[in-house]
Amino acid sequence: MSLDQRLADVRARIKQSSALANREEPTLVVVTKNHPVELVEQLYRLGERDFGENKDQEARAKAQALETPENDYRWHFVGQLQSNKVRSVMEYASVLHSLDRPSLLKELAKREAKLDVFIQMNLTDDENRGGVNPSELLAFAERVLEVPSLNLVGVMAVGGLNIEPEKEFERVAFASQNLLTVAPDANKISAGMSADFEKAIAYGATHLRIGSLITGNSH
Ligand SMILES: *Cc1c(COP(=O)(O)O)cnc(C)c1O
Repeated sequence: MSLDQRLADVRARIKQSSALANREEPTLVVVTKNHPVELVEQLYRLGERDFGENKDQEARAKAQALETPENDYRWHFVGQLQSNKVRSVMEYASVLHSLDRPSLLKELAKREAKLDVFIQMNLTDDENRGGVNPSELLAFAERVLEVPSLNLVGVMAVGGLNIEPEKEFERVAFASQNLLTVAPDANKISAGMSADFEKAIAYGATHLRIGSLITGNSH
C-alpha cells in the first residue's frame, strides 16, 4: 500500500470507530519521526495539518526544511522533553503532549513558552515510569494553570508496557474527568497509537498519535 492508501485507510477507520462510539472525530496527529521531511510534505498535500515528533534535533530540522504553500499546520511534540531543549522546541511546536514533571513546567514558565499542553499521566503501577501520578494530577494542574503563557488542554497517555489498552484508556478517561474539576476547559485526551487507536476512540480520545500504520516502515 502507498502512503495515500494507508492514510485513507486510517481515516476511514477513525470515521467508522467515531460513528460507532457516537463521538466526534478526533484530531489525527501523524507521527513522522524517523521519516524525511518529504513525507511530511506528501502528507500535507493529502490534507494533513498536524504532525508529531519525539526528538528535538530531528523535529527542528524538519520544521526548518518543511515547505508548504501556507503556514497552516502544527507541530506536536510528543516525546520526553529535556529541559535544555525547551527553548528550541517552543520555536516551532504548537502543542506539547508530554508535560510530565515539575522541572519541565518550571523551565516552560521561565521561558514563557506559548504552547498548548497536555499533562502526561503515569497510569501504570510503576512509580518510576515517566508521567504524573493520578493522585498528583490536580495539584500539578493547578501549577500549570498559574503559568499564563501555557494553555492546559488535557491529559495524555502513552501505551504502558505492562498494562492492557482498555485499562489504560479507562484510567486516562477517569483522570480527564478529574482534571475538569479544576480546569473545566481542559477536556482533551491524547491517547491511541497505531495498534490501539480504535479502542482509544471508544474511551473518548480527542487526539490520536499515529505513526507507523500511516508512515510505513522507517529506514
Ligand atoms: C512514536 C510515537 C507514537 C506513534 O507510535 P506508532 O505505534 O508508530 O503509531 C505515538 N506517541 C509517541 C509518544 C511516540 O513516540
